[in-house]
Amino acid sequence: MTAAIYAARANLNPLVIRGLEAGGQLTLTTLVENFPGFPKGVQGPELIERMQNQAAEFGAEFMEGHVTRADLSRQPFVLEVGSETVETRTLIIASGASAKMLGLESERKLLGHGVSTCATCDGYFYRGKEVVVVGGGDTAAEEALFLTRYATQVSMIHRRDQLRASKIMRDRLFHNPKINFIWDSVVVDVLDVDKGEVTGARLKNTKTGDETVKACDGVFMGIGHSPNTSLFRGQLAMNEVGYLITHDGSKTNVPGVFAAGDVQDHIYRQAITAAGSGCMAAIDAERFLETNAE
Ligand code: NAP
Repeated sequence: MTAAIYAARANLNPLVIRGLEAGGQLTLTTLVENFPGFPKGVQGPELIERMQNQAAEFGAEFMEGHVTRADLSRQPFVLEVGSETVETRTLIIASGASAKMLGLESERKLLGHGVSTCATCDGYFYRGKEVVVVGGGDTAAEEALFLTRYATQVSMIHRRDQLRASKIMRDRLFHNPKINFIWDSVVVDVLDVDKGEVTGARLKNTKTGDETVKACDGVFMGIGHSPNTSLFRGQLAMNEVGYLITHDGSKTNVPGVFAAGDVQDHIYRQAITAAGSGCMAAIDAERFLETNAE
């Protein structure tokens, strides 16, 4: 959205293809308190709507749809969006990363109401409460450590009896008195959909098959993110897990193709850093068009 605002103000006629998860991760959260300019916070979906209105104000156009094919081998680039074809001289990829979920219906229904995929975003709401973190890798470790600032107890639920997280993170976890571990366990249900809030998680022991309920006020998913880049595999440089590799600001390995936000950032992953990189991508696209005038 920031790239669209900048590109529209620069009279570049941007078209925003909104995609299947329009608005991205911000639409999955509730109150955002760390986006500058909103001292009382702003709801994630409202923030996105405001940005979209701002881009539209300057003439950005929006298209509903999902890009099913991209040909970046020649100019203009060609995108297929359903039955339509879009040609463009520059492309800014801001397709984000999606937090991996367990796939439970209760998890989906309680997302934003006690189920969260982002401790930095939502941890503050769990001051004095008990939470669980699902996963055993570095993401889960980071989430758990961050949550100890607020929660009285953080239980890590891991499907095996050994963490995948790096040694330094494991050491921090094991030395933190607020963190405990529930090994060999998977979440089979998040309670309580009828109440519309999280009261606990039903766990199943992977070795014995026994089911128990762990009472808690929040369930944080820490099983990783996947960047939405499969469309560009073989055409754009990406790291081993699929994040686009950028250089000199927002440039990808294909001149005229830029990347912004979580699709190229597995480190900061914040709304404000995504917005900042969107601004960079629009400016880079503008310069590309200036120096490669038709
Ligand atoms: P990851 O290393 O793939 O770990 C995912 C964890 O979630 C694993 O423990 C996995 O269990 C568990 N998991 C996956 N699917 C699950 C499911 N359906 N149900 C239950 N558990 C499930 O992913 P990540 O933690 O996001 O890390 C990705 C990469 O980024 C890693 O290279 C990591 O080092 C890096 N990273 C680094 C930092 C840091 O250094 N501060 C922070 C974040 C990420 P299993 O172990 O059984 O597979």
